[in-house]
Amino acid sequence: MGIILSFKSDNHNSMNRTIKSIIYADMMDMGGFPVRQAFPSRKAEQIDPFLLLHHANVKVPTHIPTNKAGVGPHPHRGFSPVTFIFKGGVHHQDSRGNNNVIYEGGTQWMNAGMGVIHSERPPHDIHEIGGVQEIIQLWVNTPAKHKMNQPEYLPASKEEIPFIETDDKLARINIISGELNGIKGIIPTLSPVNTFTADIKQGGQFQFLIPTTHNAFVYVLGGKIKVNGSEEVLTNYVTILNNDGEGFSIEALDDARLMIGTGEPLNEPIASHGPFVMNTQTEIMEAFRDYQLGKMGVLIED
Ligand code: MN
Repeated sequence: MGIILSFKSDNHNSMNRTIKSIIYADMMDMGGFPVRQAFPSRKAEQIDPFLLLHHANVKVPTHIPTNKAGVGPHPHRGFSPVTFIFKGGVHHQDSRGNNNVIYEGGTQWMNAGMGVIHSERPPHDIHEIGGVQEIIQLWVNTPAKHKMNQPEYLPASKEEIPFIETDDKLARINIISGELNGIKGIIPTLSPVNTFTADIKQGGQFQFLIPTTHNAFVYVLGGKIKVNGSEEVLTNYVTILNNDGEGFSIEALDDARLMIGTGEPLNEPIASHGPFVMNTQTEIMEAFRDYQLGKMGVLIED
């Protein structure tokens, strides 16, 4: 069950962080799927420990069976691909025997560790629940010392995710990982990582307080917001904050839906190629070799 607590909110906090950049998430084609990529881009590389943010909002085709739609079996090693589901659902199957569907409001967190093969497809009932999938996939880097851990699949449904609601009921913040105002998220992480989703109705506001050491971003999936009482940010823009204050405030100018990530930077070298994110090129070659040798397992889908 969610936890309901209410807090007063003040958007004129002198300890707020300044804004580093506000970047439009361009549309790109990912093997036939249209997705927006907020980062990395020419304007913003990773926001350590966050490597990549994709936002997809697609109509699932009706002429393809659901078990052939979406993304078929592929490997990962060395980071956590995390999927936040805003509309529809995602059917996850992996080479460790996990087979699960998460619907709207839920999250699938996977620590790929030493390697796992998974598929990410629309659930069988997608056309009965609207035929649309809106998701964010966020790649969270894993500290070097945990990259070869055993993989973990950590799903959370909407009902299981703790949330905070303001007194006026205009702002709801879902705490998937980390901590906000003393409320702990449901997903344990391998380094300090806050991931929140938020629905803030027009006129609602929320003051986020986060550790000064964390890097932080706010992505707008829909609506229009004002950051720190001054800067207007529109749909499909990501705001990256400087590390010069204790938090930031958000006010919704139109009903807004947000994804917020903050995390302690790992400050480790990155070598990445396709689905593998390691620290050296040698480790990348080992990842390809181990995948070819079947060390990440085999996925035979339902
Ligand atoms: Mn994947």
